[in-house]
Amino acid sequence: MTTVVVGAGPTGLFTAIALARRGHDVLVIDRDPGPAGNLTWRRRGVMQFAHAHTFRGPVVDALQAEIPGGVDLLVGAGATVVRADDGTAVALRCRRELFERVLRAVASRQHRLTMVTGHVDRVVLDGHRAVGVRVHGTRVSADLVIDASGRAGRMSRGVGHVGESAPCGAAYVTRQYRLRDVTAGGPVNGPIGLSLSLSGYFAVAFVHDNGTFSITITHDGTDPRLRLLRHAAVHEAAVRAIPMLAEWIDRAEPITPVLPGAGLHNSYRQQVDDNGRPMVPGLIAVGDSVCTTTPLAGRGVTLAFRQAQALVELLHRRPRDPVTVAVQFDAWCRDHVRPWFLDHVHCDGERLRRWAGGDIDLRRRLPSDLVVAAAGADASLRAEVAAYERMQALPSDLDRLQQRALAVYASGWRPPLAAGPTRAELGELCAQCATGQPVPL
Ligand SMILES: Cc1cc2nc3c(=O)[nH]c(=O)nc-3n(C[C@H](O)[C@H](O)[C@H](O)COP(=O)(O)OP(=O)(O)OC[C@H]3O[C@@H](n4cnc5c(N)ncnc54)[C@H](O)[C@@H]3O)c2cc1C
Repeated sequence: MTTVVVGAGPTGLFTAIALARRGHDVLVIDRDPGPAGNLTWRRRGVMQFAHAHTFRGPVVDALQAEIPGGVDLLVGAGATVVRADDGTAVALRCRRELFERVLRAVASRQHRLTMVTGHVDRVVLDGHRAVGVRVHGTRVSADLVIDASGRAGRMSRGVGHVGESAPCGAAYVTRQYRLRDVTAGGPVNGPIGLSLSLSGYFAVAFVHDNGTFSITITHDGTDPRLRLLRHAAVHEAAVRAIPMLAEWIDRAEPITPVLPGAGLHNSYRQQVDDNGRPMVPGLIAVGDSVCTTTPLAGRGVTLAFRQAQALVELLHRRPRDPVTVAVQFDAWCRDHVRPWFLDHVHCDGERLRRWAGGDIDLRRRLPSDLVVAAAGADASLRAEVAAYERMQALPSDLDRLQQRALAVYASGWRPPLAAGPTRAELGELCAQCATGQPVPL
């Protein structure tokens, strides 16, 4: 049985390694040739590659389960695992580039796994059934094709349901820095680093590896002046206007340009037809090819690895029956992945309403982020939201806390805002800075 995995991103590599370790022969095809030694890895086609990433605890658990020694390799390369008091991993602090370099290194040594460089033009069909892929005009035959081509992958688009989609409503700029003294970072308030909610936008310092960190400012994209944040001088002035972020960049040098991003969607793709049969027998999508969620929450790789683990288990149980596996995998995704997609659609919609000036709507079901935030006022909620926060429980686990969280907001309490300009003030600051006027700090 030959399995072709299209895409050597986190999902494709993780899936391929886990399958090969179970004795399957796997060919991984990616258009990206991989890093050239220690030179900067220019990863075209994965727009988020140099953007801020943080990895949630379940990513560590999945690596430990499927890639023995993988976490040690990451830590040896400079990543840090943040653990809760009970020892549970809650975050892996590491740049995306380092994460992928380590996965690639493991994959390149994995018995039964072959990696080749090439652009997959399309899936080869025999009737409705996938029987391989076409790479630069050459047919590569396969008993099973796994589509791990990510959010930008076009390979199997058009051969299945379009799926569900809703805008994340987030425009952002991000820039990486390196601390001058790697032991002396700025303030932190959580596992990923420093997360600040300001009036009408978010600002985050993501702590990475080897003294590196990213500063990301996210807004709803409606104020055209905030587009100026992509200019280094404007970005610097904006970051300096937020006191806790200023402490971070005071101690560091930028190592990338300011990278802008926008137009992302929460999306979910079902893989069976209305009769419950695989849309394309022999082709199974996994990772971002199935579901994307707003990057603000950093859930993408966790959801991708969980899918990969479920798929690999199903395939291992029924190696010669990809049709049944596809049906079972789709059902698993519907139960374990789609709820997160729906959760993000709800949270993003309500966040946009609040960023536009609306108050928390006490007549409607609270979005999960507000149920979690209510624990800031009602300490008895803290332990109860932890399972959701760690993604050990589905969003529906928070339903039982709705009334208590609503009571918190009915009392008039609101999540505290960090010191710094409001969104309107930030827009003004950007405009002034861009025209060379003195910026009041
Ligand atoms: C701005 C941003 C920030 C994010 N931050 C976080 C975060 O902090 N934490 C988190 O967990 N998640 C985050 N995510 C989500 C995370 O990046 C994705 O979940 C993750 O990349 C999914 O991995 P993947 O392997 O499925 O897809 P990808 O990473 O997109 O990899 C797909 C691979 O397929 C290859 N490919 C595509 N088409 C073809 C083809 N036709 N032929 C050959 N090769 C092909 C590509 O070259 C690529 O290597 C973020 C996303 C964005 C956009």
